[in-house]
Amino acid sequence: MAKSEEFKHVNYLWDDKIADQLDPVERLRYRSNILGTDQRITNTGGGNTSSKVKMTDPLSGEQVDVLWVKGSGGDLRTSRRANFASLYIDKFLSLENIYNKAEVKGVKTEIEDSMVDMYRHTTYGLNPAASSIDTPLHGLIPFRHVDHMHPISVIAIAASKDQERLTHTVFEEEVGWVPWQRPGFDLGLVMKEKLKQDPDLKGLVMGQHGLINWADDDKACYELTLSLIEKAARYVEGHDRGDQTFGGQKYESLDEKTRNETLVKLLPKLRGMISQANRFIGTVHVTENVLQFVNSVDASRLAEIGTSCPDHFLRTKIKPLYVDWDPHGESYEALIEKLEKGLVAYRADYEAYYEACKHPDSPAMRDPNPTVILIPGLGLIAWGKNKSESRVTAEFYSLAIEVMRASEAISEYQGLPRQEAFDIEYWLLEEAKLKRMPPEKEFARNVVVVIGAGSGIGKATAHRVAREGAHVVCADLSEDAARATAQELENTYGVGIGVAGTGISGCGPAIGLSVDITKRESIRAMFENVILAYGGVDNIIVTAGIFVPPDKQGYIPDDKWELTYSINVTGPYLVADEAKKIWQAQGLRTSLVITTSANAAVAKQGSFAYDTSKAAANHLVRELAIELSPLVRVNGLAPATVVEGSSMFPRDRVISSLTKYNIAFEESESTESLRDKLAVFYAQRTLTKSPITLADQAEVAYLLSSRKFSKTTGQIISVDGGLHEAFLR
Ligand SMILES: [Zn+2]
Repeated sequence: MAKSEEFKHVNYLWDDKIADQLDPVERLRYRSNILGTDQRITNTGGGNTSSKVKMTDPLSGEQVDVLWVKGSGGDLRTSRRANFASLYIDKFLSLENIYNKAEVKGVKTEIEDSMVDMYRHTTYGLNPAASSIDTPLHGLIPFRHVDHMHPISVIAIAASKDQERLTHTVFEEEVGWVPWQRPGFDLGLVMKEKLKQDPDLKGLVMGQHGLINWADDDKACYELTLSLIEKAARYVEGHDRGDQTFGGQKYESLDEKTRNETLVKLLPKLRGMISQANRFIGTVHVTENVLQFVNSVDASRLAEIGTSCPDHFLRTKIKPLYVDWDPHGESYEALIEKLEKGLVAYRADYEAYYEACKHPDSPAMRDPNPTVILIPGLGLIAWGKNKSESRVTAEFYSLAIEVMRASEAISEYQGLPRQEAFDIEYWLLEEAKLKRMPPEKEFARNVVVVIGAGSGIGKATAHRVAREGAHVVCADLSEDAARATAQELENTYGVGIGVAGTGISGCGPAIGLSVDITKRESIRAMFENVILAYGGVDNIIVTAGIFVPPDKQGYIPDDKWELTYSINVTGPYLVADEAKKIWQAQGLRTSLVITTSANAAVAKQGSFAYDTSKAAANHLVRELAIELSPLVRVNGLAPATVVEGSSMFPRDRVISSLTKYNIAFEESESTESLRDKLAVFYAQRTLTKSPITLADQAEVAYLLSSRKFSKTTGQIISVDGGLHEAFLR
């Protein structure tokens, strides 16, 4: 029988053909990646792996043992070689002497925390990867390869009331048990001692935490990890409670259409309710398993106990907010009322938890809002500082649901004691890590919708705001162009490490959507997708516009006149009008930028429809600034003659302009070269004498949307190189 057939509850992915071509460190990277791809084996960012490898010491040229171990903040699934720390084993082991010399030692002592800084002194090969707090778990276990995972089926045992007995029932003599203890040097020593007492142990169940196991061969270590998890999962499966899982069902789910309609209405409102201090980005996670939990009799009891694995609750917080609402028997208004009351109670509870558990040197209380909200019929809504974080949060709580399912099937689920949870959440080492992080960017936690992002100024603006940390909705009449811009952003910034999220909510930091701003239904459909993707809308920048050149006699047909107005004037109005409902539901300060034109202020021949439509757009800016105050600032960006990469300057138009101004050119020249010639000519007519670029426009679109212009509304800012005829007065 092939190895892969022995496993029903985990994916067996080891391939000798791949592994045998790799050096020992790459084999560790490979083992880590394949373990990390299966959420039943470990969660995103959770667990760590190590190998002790013989390497040449760069100073002495001798062979030394080096511990390669997943570094701080890494993720197994996406780890590269650079994510592993490397330490001289003999130097690392000598740290035990320093630890033992301390007068006060043990878990949570000063010496334990200070050991983390000592690991750097043992670095092999100038490797800059920082060692994690779990390093001693790997360094102090005298086997060549160690896997520490957070598998659902093993955490289920570790989070059960009678976890020690269950460990013995499931694993017999093969695996031992250690009670919950915050990871650190002392836990490493506890494990080392366990092994000393029982040298035949292959692994340990770590109370309220996970699994650790070892072998002297890396493939054997991988297979052991899988077989222990498989064994636990089979035991759980044998005790499945079927219809009686979570005490049976109390509520029924909504059909998908009603669910999405409710979510579209609810999410911006909910985002506003929890985002008064810090904005959050949402992820909707709705699977059959999640629905079975939120609709169940036991959901409210189990939600109150909170998550168990310390890795989970750092993101999910000590517990979620569960709203006991009947999706079929109660109204939407009743849901809002219950949410409001629930949030007040949640925040008070969180404050009480902080006050009860804090130490004299604890960091100040963090945002007391829940990051996971559970609603019968609707599912799980997670919130985080960015999309990847909220997806990780959704993943963690959905894994916690699976842990509770399994634990309640085999025993009774219990959470981490509150003080222990607090001592992780407010651990000074975690606080130091937070303090080391770079400050958040201008548009972090914001959703910026750029309409017209498929080309020209819109595309440049999408790139500009993404640089400021925005989640960017690239919207364009052309879906392909919108998606292409979103893809460029994703290629630059990555999709993040989160894997949860249902449908469009499983997106990265940028999405591409089609929109026809001349049609209200199309705008509405676009916003519905934005809400399901991110939970709300912050800034909107409209760059979409049209210039229809008149014929040789200067004539513009009526339908083209109408089209010009419907795109340049009615379009931004409809966008603002549809966004207004979302903005009001959120109640968060934000901004709208509409692209008008220097032509709005200059009367000239040959662009009748365009110029008058842009003059109307200028006034639309002013009217909307009044209409949408005080929540939304509305400003206009008035570009002139950006020729570079502009869809408004196709080759024909460029050639006719060059001809009109008697500028020499060859038919064989590329369009970009012709555009450059025209741009240089236009630049000479301005006060600043330099060509106006897309980047110049994007910079001002960004600035007007940013907090830097927080006191400016109803204004038009020209980016035209200085055209005195276009001065506004
Ligand atoms: Zn762990």
